[in-house]
Amino acid sequence: LLKVEQLRKSFGAHDVLRGIDLAVKRGDVTCIVGPSGSGKSTLLRCLNHLETPTKGVVFLNGVPVGVRWKGNRLYQMSFNELARQRQRMGMVFQAFNLFPHKTVLENVTEAPILVRRIKRKAAEVEAMDLLERVGMAERANYYPPQLSGGQQQRAAIARSLAMKPDLMLFDEPTSALDPELVGEVLAVMRQLADDGMTMVVVTHEMGFARDVADHLVFMDGGVIIEEGAPADLLTHPHHERTKAFLSRVL
Ligand code: ATP
Ligand code: MG
Repeated sequence: LLKVEQLRKSFGAHDVLRGIDLAVKRGDVTCIVGPSGSGKSTLLRCLNHLETPTKGVVFLNGVPVGVRWKGNRLYQMSFNELARQRQRMGMVFQAFNLFPHKTVLENVTEAPILVRRIKRKAAEVEAMDLLERVGMAERANYYPPQLSGGQQQRAAIARSLAMKPDLMLFDEPTSALDPELVGEVLAVMRQLADDGMTMVVVTHEMGFARDVADHLVFMDGGVIIEEGAPADLLTHPHHERTKAFLSRVL
């Protein structure tokens, strides 16, 4: 479903991603772990072209993201084209990115109405279904500031799902939450994984990675140091840097 080849990203002289190869199969959950500053967020942002890669191409369903071929050269695609591709990838960040002056229901229905151009009534029926799935149906008419962090994050997940993405990208979706609220968001993500959603999740939640991930990736210094089945990687890491990291977080 998603494929990355020799992806590089530099900010000035700072090489943040130094050649990443990654493949994500449909229906798989890929968790990315690694120390702070290792380039995890940058990688995720390159996947949907929130950052333009310095080198390398991201393929979604075999189609290059953010660039198109003209003859044998690659060009940046137009903003509208890119926006359409981005819709295929839902993204949930650490900070809840809801519109504070809109209700939960309005947050979830906005993009389907504006972008998918479906009727408000139909959008609301779909949205209530999604809010049911994330346990937020009762809070549909609340405004984000009236909600806990966990509730806001679950609403943000519903809002991403409303665009019917092919895959969901999560960047530390629980790390801004009070500890007692982490579980409810992870439970929603776990359910989403069980329902077959393809997910790429940057996380510090090793329990989630161990239980839910099909594929675990350890990054450090802008490269993938080691990857594999979570059970293998967590119990038999080969690389010294993986061992050092795991001994700190497990
Ligand atoms: P964390 O676990 O703390 O979220 P991370 O693995 O997500 O870390 P990134 O946010 O990808 O790390 O950052 C990797 C490096 O890239 C950092 O050194 C950061 O300072 C640098 N960096 C990220 N974004 C930019 C930017 N827009 N301009 C310049 N440098 C950046
Ligand atoms: Mg980050």
